[in-house]
Amino acid sequence: MAIILDGKALAASLRRKYREEAAHLPRRPGIAVILVGDDPASQLYVKNKAKDCEECGFFSRRFDLPADVSEEALIGTINKLNAMPAIDGVLVQLPLPASINERRIIEAIAPEKDVDAFHPLNVGRMVRGDSGIWPCTPAGIGELLDAYQIPVEGKICVMVGRSDIVGKPMGLLLLRRNGTVIYCHSRTPDLAALTCQADILIVAAGCPGLIRADMVKPGAAVIDVAMNRDPVTGKFTGDVCFDEVKELASHITPVPGGVGPMTRAMLMRNVLLLAREHMGLGQSGE
Ligand code: NAD
Repeated sequence: MAIILDGKALAASLRRKYREEAAHLPRRPGIAVILVGDDPASQLYVKNKAKDCEECGFFSRRFDLPADVSEEALIGTINKLNAMPAIDGVLVQLPLPASINERRIIEAIAPEKDVDAFHPLNVGRMVRGDSGIWPCTPAGIGELLDAYQIPVEGKICVMVGRSDIVGKPMGLLLLRRNGTVIYCHSRTPDLAALTCQADILIVAAGCPGLIRADMVKPGAAVIDVAMNRDPVTGKFTGDVCFDEVKELASHITPVPGGVGPMTRAMLMRNVLLLAREHMGLGQSGE
C-alpha cells in the first residue's frame, strides 16, 4: 500500500513558513492579480490567491477587467504594475478571452515580476538550468518529492503531458535533478510500454482513468496532476485510477489534496522569492 503524499498538509506548513519569513522583511511582499472577464472557475482561483496572500502576510491587489477589454488596455494595466515598487509579482489569470493574444500578454509582464514563470526569458533560464523562479505546479511537485525524500537522480521519470505550464517545465525540473526523462503525449503510440518503465510517473493529461494499475511499475512514485471535474457529481478526479494504483505504488498523490494545494503554495513561494530579490536579499530558487 502506497504512502499518500499529503499536499494539503505540506502546503499549510509552507504557508506558515513563508509568513514567518515575510515578517522579517523590510516591507510586505506584494502581488497584483488581473482577472479578465467573469469565468466562475477563474474567479474562484483569484479569490483563493487573495486568501493565501492574507495567510502569508502578503499584500495583494486584484484588478477586474471586462471580458471585452482591449489588448492595449490590458497591457497598459500591466505596464503600470511593472513600474510599481510595492508590487513584486504580476499575475494575469489564464485562460484569457479568445480575442486576446495570451502570448503577447505574458510577454508584457516584466520578467522580474513574472510570478508564474511563463515569460520566455524565464522559460529560457529554466531550459538552461539556471536557478530561479519555476512554474508553480512543477515547483510544487519538486517540493513534494523533497518532503517525502523521493530521489530523482538516476531514476527513470515518465512525464505524461507536454503542456507549457505543467509537462514541459516538469520534465526540465526532473532533468535538472539528474533524472532520465521520457515525455509522453497524445501522439505517443504505446503509452503503457513507457509508463511501465517509470520509477517516477507524473501524469498531467486531463483524461480521467488514463493510468490503470497494469501501466505502473510496482514501487513507482505516482504523481497525479490532473483535476477533472466529474460532470455528474461535480467532484474532482485525477488521471490515475487511485484505488488500484495505490496497491502497488510506493507513493501516490490523492486528487484533490495532492498537487493542487502545492501549486497554490508555490505561488506564495514565488512572490516571496521575487520580493527578496527586489529588496536586494537574493533569491534561492530551484
Ligand atoms: P493541456 O490540455 O494543456 O495538456 C494536456 C497534455 O496531455 C497534452 O500535452 C496532451 O498531449 C497530453 N495528453 C492528452 N491526452 C493524452 C493521452 N490520452 N495520452 C497521453 N497524453 C495525453 O493540460 P494542462 O494544462 O497541462 O493540464 C493537465 C491536467 O492537469 C488538467 O486536468 C488540468 O486541470 C490539471 N492541472 C492541475 C494543476 C494542479 O495544480 N493540480 C495545475 C495545472 C493543471
